Amino acid sequence: MYKAPRGTVDILPEEQAYWRYVEAKAAEVCQLYGYQRLDTPVFEEAALFTRSIGEGTDIVTKEMYIFKDRSGKALALRPEGTAPVCRAYIEHGMDNLPQPVKLYYLASAFRYERPQAGRYRQHHQFGCEAIGDADPALDSEVIHLACQFFTSLGLKEITVQLNSIGCKVCRPDYVRALKGYYQRRAADLCPDCETRLEKNPLRLLDCKRPECQHIADSSPWSTDFLCADCRAHFTAVTEYLRSLTLSFSLNHRLVRGLDYYTRTVFEVQPLNGGALSALGGGGRYDDLIEQLGGKPTPAVGFAAGMDRVVLNLKKQGIPVPPLPSPCVFIAHLGNKAKAEAVKLAASLRTQGISAVMATGDRSLKAQLRQADSLGTGYAIIIGEEEMENRKLTLRNMVSGEQQSLTPVELRAVLGKGT
Ligand code: AMP
Repeated sequence: MYKAPRGTVDILPEEQAYWRYVEAKAAEVCQLYGYQRLDTPVFEEAALFTRSIGEGTDIVTKEMYIFKDRSGKALALRPEGTAPVCRAYIEHGMDNLPQPVKLYYLASAFRYERPQAGRYRQHHQFGCEAIGDADPALDSEVIHLACQFFTSLGLKEITVQLNSIGCKVCRPDYVRALKGYYQRRAADLCPDCETRLEKNPLRLLDCKRPECQHIADSSPWSTDFLCADCRAHFTAVTEYLRSLTLSFSLNHRLVRGLDYYTRTVFEVQPLNGGALSALGGGGRYDDLIEQLGGKPTPAVGFAAGMDRVVLNLKKQGIPVPPLPSPCVFIAHLGNKAKAEAVKLAASLRTQGISAVMATGDRSLKAQLRQADSLGTGYAIIIGEEEMENRKLTLRNMVSGEQQSLTPVELRAVLGKGT
């Protein structure tokens, strides 16, 4: 027996209402904020991700699905959505458009992680990116968009954590201070953190082990090392957020798991969220486009984990609109009636009326049971008598009421219901 690969799930028909709801809300919010959809390939050149996400990150060192195609080219399944959007921005000359260019995506992402609740090897992200403007108002707009997305879904008590990790001018001073602090505690670090201390000290703050978290709690704050420009930017972002009455808390340990961030970083947590429960996160990445071969171009973005959004909708008991059932079920008795049913189903569908026809030769009772389970509003019954009279029986599946109608009358009744 084959099974879905570890860490992946099938999204079954009964789950689809949640997913369609979340996707529709994402599209609706993006429309409100002027973001246009962009779809990029599921795989890219592996180097696009190793260069942008960072050589010392967990994603690049442990989690990427890398493979060689038949020509020997190193490719990777997309582990996140920002780098592909930036690649597309550069490749399609979007720097010639009025800036900022605002794009969004709904895409699956692949990371070889240890599967657990809310953590998969294939997950789904809704992300948006505003490229080509350094204005702090854009940072606050992206954070506001993220919050509006979550709250418009009905999710309760969404909290925002915010930090600034500075830029290439001021961050080296902070990293030096952080390194010094951790070097003095090197003996107490986990083996992974010993490597992080050498290769990528910012990642020390991400470690989930309790002993390392304890050390991170008293570590130096990045906001104490910001240069004048970064400080002014951060102050402006917080002021815009306050003017929007968007509440947030400052978290000096928030650095995010990817290296390309500069200045603003943020994360969104749900009600009763723990360390692994972030619904989404993002921030500024002012150097990334240049790093990928484009002109220096500031940008800011955000990505939400749709799988976790669906989990939280269920956990919080938030009802989602059901998907429409087919309008009508066609039951038939006898070969002549079946031939008539085939034609009727086809003609209803071409008129835009959704119809499911019984197949096989089951009893009327069994056919109506199927109509019930499909949730159709009506069933049409074609039997010998109906064939002789050139009439059809229309049964209201809710009231059980039946009426005998000509094909023209039938279309008029069903047409009203669609
Ligand atoms: P990131 O690209 O790591 O900032 O992730 C953005 C969002 O995607 C996170 O806040 C999570 O909600 C979600 N996410 C990240 N990794 C996973 C995963 N392995 N399984 C499910 N959701 C994930």
